[in-house]
Amino acid sequence: MSTEPGWVRQLSAKHYLNGVFTAAEGSEPHDVIDPATERRIGEIVDASVAEIDRAVAIANEAQRRWNRTSMLRRAELLHEVAADIRSSRAALGELLTREMGKPFKESADEALWTASAVDYYAEVGRHEAGRVLGPAVPGQFHFTTKEPLGVVVLILPFNYPLCLLAWQAAAALVSGNAVIVKPSELTSLTTLKLMESFRHLPPGLIQVVTGHGRVGAQLVDHHDTHMVAFTGGIETGRRVAEACARQYKRVLLETSGNDPFIVMPSAPLEVAARGAVFGAFLNCGQVCAAAERFYVHEAVHDAFIAKVLEETARIRIGNGLEKVDMGPMASHAQRERYERILARSRAEGGKVRIGGGRPAGLNKGFFVDATVITDVLPDHEIVNDETFGPVLPVVKVSNFDEAIELANRSRYALGSTVYTLDLTESLRAVNEIEAGMVWVNAPLLDNDAGPFGGRKQSGMGRQLGAEGLDSFRHTKLAMIDPQAAPHDFWWFPYRDEEAFQLNPSPGKPHG
Ligand code: NDP
Repeated sequence: MSTEPGWVRQLSAKHYLNGVFTAAEGSEPHDVIDPATERRIGEIVDASVAEIDRAVAIANEAQRRWNRTSMLRRAELLHEVAADIRSSRAALGELLTREMGKPFKESADEALWTASAVDYYAEVGRHEAGRVLGPAVPGQFHFTTKEPLGVVVLILPFNYPLCLLAWQAAAALVSGNAVIVKPSELTSLTTLKLMESFRHLPPGLIQVVTGHGRVGAQLVDHHDTHMVAFTGGIETGRRVAEACARQYKRVLLETSGNDPFIVMPSAPLEVAARGAVFGAFLNCGQVCAAAERFYVHEAVHDAFIAKVLEETARIRIGNGLEKVDMGPMASHAQRERYERILARSRAEGGKVRIGGGRPAGLNKGFFVDATVITDVLPDHEIVNDETFGPVLPVVKVSNFDEAIELANRSRYALGSTVYTLDLTESLRAVNEIEAGMVWVNAPLLDNDAGPFGGRKQSGMGRQLGAEGLDSFRHTKLAMIDPQAAPHDFWWFPYRDEEAFQLNPSPGKPHG
């Protein structure tokens, strides 16, 4: 295996402030560990209070200038950023794989999705900035305008550090905001590397301060930040939402998922099994919208399982810089957590049909098997809670009603997949599943043009699409009377005949 290129080390212990990679002031660096080799590849440092204050002051200043820049110019600069990300795809992909483990193909694809979202918002952002209303008073002009919020804080998780950043940052920037990013401590170097592509923007508009949760919390609490877009777990999201509520600060929450995956008898089983295995094991199961609980009709249950086992056996596990389908989990802590969930599932009666341990021959790295478990019941923890690891637990159901009822019996409501060729079931799935996204025979797809987000405890608000743009804009109502005419129809003095009458004469309508 090759050693890390020098530029990986050059990003160590840095923040990205005012368009410059700046040596971090803090004195307690934390190691960045390659999860496939357990080797230290760099370090990050928690931003100090002074560094956070500085980043916020720079962002506010940059935002005021950016707000005076034309929408066309903003779009041109964002297109330059997108082109740069595309041409940096290989370097970004390599670093992302080294830092959090996903196979290089997935990392490099993520860089392309990142560029695609930036291009999308460059155009959508200038498409409209409000709408003209039918006036409530003849001769007047009533309309809405869109305005930026100010400085937007992005708090990001480790699983998709590039594209999740772009989904939010591109929408925020094109709308005239400045952005401060607090990446996960597991993917800070990759986030810093991405900033090289943002150098086309004026300095200070997008900055990165690294560190643990404390740094995120200080940015959330800061009186000169104006919105928080949080992506991460439910409990952290709750803390962020509570802190925002104290200041009436706008918050976008993209939190955990535990997506259902329903398989009905009309489904092409070969395809459904491949879709299931991909939906469960992509990115080692560390996907917010991963398929995490499978409800399979009893008529096809055994045949479906047989195909899923065949597909699972084919998955190549190893270092993401080699020819593999699945890399390690992102950290030692993630693996520990996941293995404890598997152990409890076994204790509850789940039958491991393949996997369940660590792959033979991989003695270094946070690797785990791709695992299929059957005989699980709807109330088992492995079905009810987010596992965020590569496990495919299957519950047998006897009809579509039961599948829908179980799918909805959850505090999560992010995505959902149904495999069926039955038109009625397809439409019922769309109408009846409580989720932000319903995929019929098309698991885990995103589209920059369509909104992504959850309901219940999976989130509040939307990113992507036109909805995702409005998450980062104020709407202001404006009403103009060009004549400055008196509004006698409702101003003082009120007419006597419009006053309350105690005994209106019979037959004469009141007022
Ligand atoms: P966490 O909730 O642990 O962390 C998310 C981010 O919040 C990290 O940058 C973390 O910093 C930071 N943070 C921690 N404490 C605080 C605090 N008190 N105030 C502000 N920020 C804080 O999530 P993970 O990184 O483990 O990501 C996995 C989770 O993300 C899963 O539950 C997954 O479902 C969810 N997710 C949801 C998505 C969606 O669109 N709904 C998309 C992708 C992931 P640090 O890690 O450095 O401590």
